[in-house]
Amino acid sequence: MVDIYIRGGWVVTMDRERRIIRDGAVAVEDGVIIDVGKREQLDEKYRRYADVLISAERDIVMPGLVNTHVHLAQGLLRACADYLPLIEWLRDRVWPLQGNYTKQEALASAKLVVLEMIKTGTTSFLETGLVGRYGPDEIIEMIHSTGLRAAVARHVMDLKGYATQDNILHEGLVESGDYSLKDTVRLIEKYHGWDNRIWVWFGPRTPGAVSTELYREIAARARELKTGITMHLAEVREDVEYTVRNFSKKPVEFAHWLGLTGRNVVLVHVVWVEDSEIRLLSETETSVSHNPSSNMKLASGAARVSDMLRMSVNVALGTDGGPSNNSYDLIREMKHAALLQSLRTLRADAIRAEDVLEMATIRGARALMIDHLAGSIERGKRADIIVVDYWQPHLHPLNNPVSHLVYAASGYDVKHSIVDGRVVMFNRRVLTLSEEEILEEAERAAWSLYERAGVCTSPDLKWPIY
Ligand SMILES: [Zn+2]
Repeated sequence: MVDIYIRGGWVVTMDRERRIIRDGAVAVEDGVIIDVGKREQLDEKYRRYADVLISAERDIVMPGLVNTHVHLAQGLLRACADYLPLIEWLRDRVWPLQGNYTKQEALASAKLVVLEMIKTGTTSFLETGLVGRYGPDEIIEMIHSTGLRAAVARHVMDLKGYATQDNILHEGLVESGDYSLKDTVRLIEKYHGWDNRIWVWFGPRTPGAVSTELYREIAARARELKTGITMHLAEVREDVEYTVRNFSKKPVEFAHWLGLTGRNVVLVHVVWVEDSEIRLLSETETSVSHNPSSNMKLASGAARVSDMLRMSVNVALGTDGGPSNNSYDLIREMKHAALLQSLRTLRADAIRAEDVLEMATIRGARALMIDHLAGSIERGKRADIIVVDYWQPHLHPLNNPVSHLVYAASGYDVKHSIVDGRVVMFNRRVLTLSEEEILEEAERAAWSLYERAGVCTSPDLKWPIY
């Protein structure tokens, strides 16, 4: 007997040889991939003995996507902060909204985001910054119940600034160093490693909101507790000015000086960096989460992704959040990643679709330190698999599945999703969440949040609504 047998279609494995198997098949038992190969060879062994038989003749079968930069608390903030650069975007819109959340509203936002990610093919993600007011315990338990894998970083901070002098964190988000550090350790003790699907990381706030002493403490505690650290870095030019002015160090040098580089660190954005800093990232095996839509929309800049890949940095992909992207669809993000490198370098071959698909799968798994479990379809790994329907005009004919996934597909082409051997979406119906309830809850929560914050109470539109 096997639990799940997927037969037919193109299997894009992302294994060590990056094999693509035409008319392939995958067998799953007890959550583990036990066989991958040609359908004609596997059919005999598994076809008649499977609990769940998935026909994928007109589909692409591939590893579930890994989104390495997500803000669950920004699901309700879509269209609340358009047309603004990062600092005003945070100070005038995003922070006041996030600083007014009730736990119930934050949970409604998190559910909405998780639902969107399941529906667009993400099976693992890295949440960047929960705080006490969002109710991190309830959010983590909700994620676990949906079946997804997630590393959930909790914010740690002891100052209130960010980058420029007039930019002060909203009072509703301020926490003390003692509390935010202790609460992160509490969450790690409670949830880290839960069913090999949930991990709790440190999420130090961006330079300006954390003292050097606390940064060092975070680096030491993460090593001691064997967990990860994720932090926004060098997103806009003001970030470079801040570390140079205050510490005479470029952003990556600053992070490295404090112990915030290494195999367990994911630095986010990393737009404004020089060659010497890229080298440092490579030498320390620090991962970078690239978020092209957010960087374009907030006019932050174009990250040097093709240079980083050439210098052997592990670059992964992230969507960022509702008010910066404004989507959590990682397949759409792949297209933006590819196009942005061509535009930045004025070279049509600056980056290939293969590179971008690696960023969204196996490189993401490596960034989350779960590449022994996920990120590819190969024997012995946990079964995190998505099935993409290519029998549609925009993906037809399928002469190159990798090119089509990166340049032509969208997350809404994902038909089925399996995480850890459990089917979480079948024929686009999510089985672990109630879609209707989540949409209704999110709508109610959003309007009460906007009213309380006094932000986003009417749409930012130049046209009249009748
Ligand atoms: Zn972010």
